[in-house]
Amino acid sequence: MEYAKLETAALAHVDDTYYYGAYCRKCKHAARLSLEKLREHLGDGFPLRKVRERLRCEHCRSRQVVITFLAPNQRTGNVANLFDQPPNR
Ligand SMILES: [Zn+2]
Repeated sequence: MEYAKLETAALAHVDDTYYYGAYCRKCKHAARLSLEKLREHLGDGFPLRKVRERLRCEHCRSRQVVITFLAPNQRTGNVANLFDQPPNR
C-alpha cells in the first residue's frame, strides 16, 4: 500500500484517515483539519502542499501556521493520540 505524500499528493488522494494538523506559531492555537472538507472547498486536484498557503489561524488570523501531516500508517507511538482528535468540520 502506497500512502499519499505531502509533497506530491492532491486532495483527491487523501481523506480523514490522514492526519492534517495546523499549529499557530503566534497564539499557539492548534487544530486538526478535515481533509475531506478542504477537498470540498478547494477541489480534487488541489495540491496538498499548497493547502498551507491558504490557511490562516482561526483565532488570530496569523499566517504563521505550521502543518503536521501524517499518513494512516504513521498512527503509532506518541503521535497515535493525534488521530483521536475529531477533524474540525
Ligand atoms: Zn493564532
